[in-house]
Amino acid sequence: MREIHEVAERVLQGGKISPEEAERFIELNTWPDVLELASEATRIREKFTGKEVDLCALVNAKSGQCAEDCKFCSQSGHYSTDVSNYALMDAEQIVERAKQAKEFGAKRFCIVTATRGLSDKDLPVICEAVRRVKEEVGILPECSLGFVTDEQLEKLKAAGMTRYNHNLETSESHFPEICTTHTYRDRLNTLRQLRKHGLEICSGGILGLGESRKERLELAFALAEMEVECAPINVLNPRPGTPLEAETPPDPMEVIKTIAVFRFILPKSKLELGGGREVNLRDFQSLAFLAGANSLIIGGYLTTNGRQPAQDLALLKDLGFTV
Ligand code: SF4
Repeated sequence: MREIHEVAERVLQGGKISPEEAERFIELNTWPDVLELASEATRIREKFTGKEVDLCALVNAKSGQCAEDCKFCSQSGHYSTDVSNYALMDAEQIVERAKQAKEFGAKRFCIVTATRGLSDKDLPVICEAVRRVKEEVGILPECSLGFVTDEQLEKLKAAGMTRYNHNLETSESHFPEICTTHTYRDRLNTLRQLRKHGLEICSGGILGLGESRKERLELAFALAEMEVECAPINVLNPRPGTPLEAETPPDPMEVIKTIAVFRFILPKSKLELGGGREVNLRDFQSLAFLAGANSLIIGGYLTTNGRQPAQDLALLKDLGFTV
C-alpha cells in the first residue's frame, strides 16, 4: 500500500500520522498488509530509538485485596480469584528480587503494589527499597503504586526513582466498562502530576478488554499527547474469577498490527511488550519486535509466570538488538 510508505516517510521526517490514517491502518486484515506496516514501523523504530532494547523486571511487592474493581484484574478484592494475598514485602525482600532481576539481564526494576494508592505507612519501606535498588543493586528503580500525593512523589524521587508506571489501561470511552471505582480522568491527572514533578512516564494499556480497534487508537493518541517515555502493551490473559474470564483476547495478527500502528503514533517512545505476550502471541513473539516493539518485561508478571529470561535474551540477540 502506497499510503503506508507515505505516512512512514512523513513520520520519519518528524511529522505525524492522522487519526484517519491510523484508522485505515488498524483495519488492515491480511498478513501481507500487516507485514508491510510492520516493516515501516521498524524503520521508524530504528530511526528514533535505534537497536537498543530495554529489559524491565517487576516485583509484586503487595498482592491482592485491592479496593478497586478493574474487571481484568485478579488482584481486585471485588472478585474471588486464586491470587495470593500478602502485605507489603520488606525492603530486603524487594532488594533480593532486584538482584535476581539484574542477574538475568534487567536494566530496570519496577516495584508494584496492588493498591488504589500508597499509604504513608508503606512509603518509608518503598523509599528504602528504591534507594537500595539504585545504589546497592545498580539498576534503575521504578514504581507503580497507584495514586500518589505530591509529597510522596517527592520522597520517592529523592530516594532515586526517576520513572513511574501508571497505565491508562484503555481508551477514555471504554474505561467506564472496565472500572467504576475510579475514572480515566483520575489516571490522566496522575500522568500530569508525574510530569509536573519531572518524572518519566511509563503508561500503556491492555489489549482485549472488549474495546474496539478505534478505542485502541484513542488510547495510543492519548499516550502520544502525554509524550510517554515508555508504553507497555499488555494483552489480556483472562484470569479465572474476574468478570473478563471468558473474554477472547485478540489474535497474533491483531496484536502485531496494533503494535505497528502504535509505533507510527508513538515514534519515539519505548513500546514495551508486557503481560499476556506468551499466551497470545505464541510463535509470533519475535514479529512484535519487527513491528516496532523495543522494550520487554522479563522474568514473569504480577500474577502470572513468563517464560525463561534466557529464551528472551536469545530471541533479542537473534533479532540483532542490543540490550
Ligand atoms: S489493576 Fe491495579 S488498581 Fe485495578 S484492581 Fe488491579 S491492582 Fe487494583
